[in-house]
Amino acid sequence: MARKKKKTAWGRHVAKAVLAVAVAMAIYIFVQRELDFREELAERPLPEGLHPAVEEKAAELVRLSADQGIDVVITDGYRSGEEQDRLYDQGRTAPGKIVTHARAGSSYHNFGLAVDYALRTPDGRIIWDLGWDGNGNGKSDWTETAEIAKSLGFAWGGDWTGFKDYPHLEMTFGLSLRELNAGWRPDDRNGAKALGHP
Ligand SMILES: [Zn+2]
Repeated sequence: MARKKKKTAWGRHVAKAVLAVAVAMAIYIFVQRELDFREELAERPLPEGLHPAVEEKAAELVRLSADQGIDVVITDGYRSGEEQDRLYDQGRTAPGKIVTHARAGSSYHNFGLAVDYALRTPDGRIIWDLGWDGNGNGKSDWTETAEIAKSLGFAWGGDWTGFKDYPHLEMTFGLSLRELNAGWRPDDRNGAKALGHP
């Protein structure tokens, strides 16, 4: 009886030790994977053009607006950090009026996730007239376009509180600018979730 008891205690001891080793290994593997992933993120280059999904949705916006008798022009898409800084200087250290509040890396344009739009009149002028009703349905063409864009998954700068950026449409894929600057990209959203990232 005493002998059996001793054996069981020893077995439990071994089981505990095995479990402790397994847990330690799992933690080690998890931490190592995390570190490798952070390193990979930090080394990621900036995108050099519009994200394909954004490009596709922008083209769809032009088509759907045309169906409503609205001629939409995409005036701006991807912007490099250099271009963004040049635009930021405008109205500050360079001539012109202020058109952006964002420096390099602080606009979704820099990550290929934003476009700007304008309207084209039948005589070929590009306009930024929020009240224009070219299709004559009693509604602002600009707002109609924004509504179509939102139905396609874009967030509209005209909905922002504070500084409103009426021509601006962006698709964030749930990524903040801080995450994008840290190297996160829309295409790792699913994998990221599986790893338990926000
Ligand atoms: Zn914009």
